[in-house]
Amino acid sequence: AKPIEQIRTQMEDLQKADASITRIKELLELRPAVTDGRGTSIPAGPVRVKFDRMTFGYEPGSVTLDSIHFELKPGESLGVLGRTGSGKSTLARLLLRFYDPASGGIYLNGVNIRDAKLAELRRSVGMVTQQIELFQGTVRDNLTFFDESIPDSRIIGVLEELGMGEWLHSMPLGLDSPLESSGGGLSAGEAQLMAFARVFLMDPGLVILDEASSRLDPATEQRIESAISKLLRNRTSIIIAHRLATVQRVDQILVLDNGRVVEYGERSRLAADRHTRFSGILEKGLEETPA
Ligand code: ADP
Repeated sequence: AKPIEQIRTQMEDLQKADASITRIKELLELRPAVTDGRGTSIPAGPVRVKFDRMTFGYEPGSVTLDSIHFELKPGESLGVLGRTGSGKSTLARLLLRFYDPASGGIYLNGVNIRDAKLAELRRSVGMVTQQIELFQGTVRDNLTFFDESIPDSRIIGVLEELGMGEWLHSMPLGLDSPLESSGGGLSAGEAQLMAFARVFLMDPGLVILDEASSRLDPATEQRIESAISKLLRNRTSIIIAHRLATVQRVDQILVLDNGRVVEYGERSRLAADRHTRFSGILEKGLEETPA
């Protein structure tokens, strides 16, 4: 063929290749969107949690969490441990249905969370993460997310219970005082207590707590610890623990490594056995080895 024609054919081939690359990219990015459930109810009160051989990957074909299987009775607490990247936060996000499992399922009180109404699910499951999202608005709105059915007396009661009473009194307009989205005016510890207050007001049957790993002053530390004890009372909880004190009061321990459960069982039993990973963690501390 003439050189000019060769070039034309090659250009056409390249264009086709480009089109199919785009298509492949589209397919790769295509994750089944989470669709709302039909509305099976999750009753109020402490929740029974079951992960039934649940497997999930962020990309089709990849496995981020592999056949996770565990069960929590209503009111029990689970400490999730594992190195950075082992899948702890992914497990937490799956409970709120940010994504759906590739296989297996997650059940709350026997209801597959895929069948629950998303709004109801997200009311039943309260999550406190390390990033505390405050927005530009009043203290009240930041705590209630504009739920006007929550009386001020309850908000004040919760803040007092969390040791934030004095802070509230120092605010010129009380609950009407404006907060900055940056949390300006709040210390890191106080911002965390605000996040706890939100969960107390929501009163969910299941709490997921991704504990902050930052060090706080002893007085604030004390307040946070007492808030965590109160949070766990009469609720089922899953805690991504960064504090030894927290790890020592949960009922069950689950150790993740590279998306797999490498240890699971009652805390007291795992702590008593010197050969478990958990007793190793208790000895060496929770300081994470970077992945
Ligand atoms: P951990 O909370 O234990 O640090 P993560 O659940 O954040 O672990 O991460 C587990 C794995 O999933 C890691 O390999 C991480 O890189 C990957 N991952 C986390 N979030 C995403 C995401 N949004 N998209 C793709 N991969 C992710």
